[in-house]
Amino acid sequence: MTARILVVDDVPANIRLLEAKLTFEYYDVLSAPDGPTALQIAARDAPDIILLDVMMPGMDGFEVCRRLKANVDTRHIPIIMVTALDGREERIRGLDAGADDFITKPIDDVILMARVRSLARLKLVTDELREREESGRRLGLIEGVGRLRASGGRIIVVDDDAARARRLMAGLADEHRVSQEADPATALAASRTRVDLLIINAAADSFDGLRLAAQVRSHEGSRNLPILAIVNPDDRGRMVRALEIGVNDLLPRPVDPEELSARVRTQVKRKRFADFLREKLDFSLEMAVTDALTGLHNRRYMTSQLQALIARANHGGETVAVLLVDIDHFKGVNDLFGHDAGDEVLREFGVRLATNVRAVDLPCRMGGEEFVVVMPGTRLEDAQRIAERIRINVEVAPFRILGGQESLPVTVSIGVAATRGSDETPESLLKRADDGVYEAKSSGRNRVIARAA
Ligand code: GH3
Ligand code: MG
Ligand code: MG
Repeated sequence: MTARILVVDDVPANIRLLEAKLTFEYYDVLSAPDGPTALQIAARDAPDIILLDVMMPGMDGFEVCRRLKANVDTRHIPIIMVTALDGREERIRGLDAGADDFITKPIDDVILMARVRSLARLKLVTDELREREESGRRLGLIEGVGRLRASGGRIIVVDDDAARARRLMAGLADEHRVSQEADPATALAASRTRVDLLIINAAADSFDGLRLAAQVRSHEGSRNLPILAIVNPDDRGRMVRALEIGVNDLLPRPVDPEELSARVRTQVKRKRFADFLREKLDFSLEMAVTDALTGLHNRRYMTSQLQALIARANHGGETVAVLLVDIDHFKGVNDLFGHDAGDEVLREFGVRLATNVRAVDLPCRMGGEEFVVVMPGTRLEDAQRIAERIRINVEVAPFRILGGQESLPVTVSIGVAATRGSDETPESLLKRADDGVYEAKSSGRNRVIARAA
């Protein structure tokens, strides 16, 4: 997998070195000698990962990181901060500024490549989610991202040593809900419930933490769960292996409580972001096929379904009928009782329509006070009978409006048409139904007119 990486460092020799290493692995490398240039390039060239030096004159790495994370156009780009070898303070400040990962100088090639690879993989997933979420942005849903919290996460610590687990959990309990599992099988089952982070001791005595990590990753219900592995810092082979399996972050033993708490916060926040996008994605998919006022199918969905059914009918399949229903003098409802009362009538009509057709029928709101019911496998006469039933149902029971204070008589005019021959189109079918509505209106409203071909 290749990716575009932005290297930010004030020392040209450092840039050249990283550039050489990354280019050798076929990464595409951009560079910036200072913070302001980095911000510009990040916004303009959309790199997949940013390698950010902490110590720079003028705007330092923390400030660059904060600004990148504050900007909606760049906040999703993973940032790896490059810190001094014993830069514990720097690491904690960096995580607070929103950095996703760290690498210490002098840079270890194997660790660097493993981390870049794992972040590039994560970026690919979030990019896809972001792309599919674009329609949601237009609906204003994306604003919620700014309110995502990094605390209150549900965390499971998997360790077979109770005392060690307790020490770990003590530092997190203020901010999160933490529990311990000593048995990897139980932990695996628990990871499919509502959990935000798994902390696995990958150096436990009685089980192989990396095997558990791999199982969590390969399972549908836990695939997206972040994993933080606690590792032995001398065991570089295992660290690399952990990242290859898809562990999101590594923490060397002995665990520094502050660094743990900062890294946990980052993982919880990232999980919330991914959950948020996924949730909004489901919502925007639903929005795409549903009418918001009535909850019926919308015009777009109806058209696509009708298209498919008519194509089948044209090739010798079952007849398809449509009802086009238009509320009579609806403008008068708005004029007399206000637009909200008009909406109440539309909603109530939606309910009556949906409850008076069969389960296989597709009741839809076309827009305004016009509705369509698509009826698969239905002949004209049968559709006409159902239309009559709907008409009567509307006529005999007045509609409750103004929160139930008033009741209002409502009637509808309905045009009916069914497919014939082999050259039907959605337009021709709906046109005949529309002609039926026109005739119903001009002959006094509150009636059903079926239009044979
Ligand atoms: P006709 O019997 O000839 O169908 O008369 P009508 O008044 O029902 O038809 P017309 O097409 O003249 O007016 C439809 C009205 O529906 C006009 C518009 O303001 C109103 N309308 C369209 N969409 C909505 C909506 O979502 N909510 C409300 N309250 N009114 C709507
Ligand atoms: Mg009308
Ligand atoms: Mg109308």
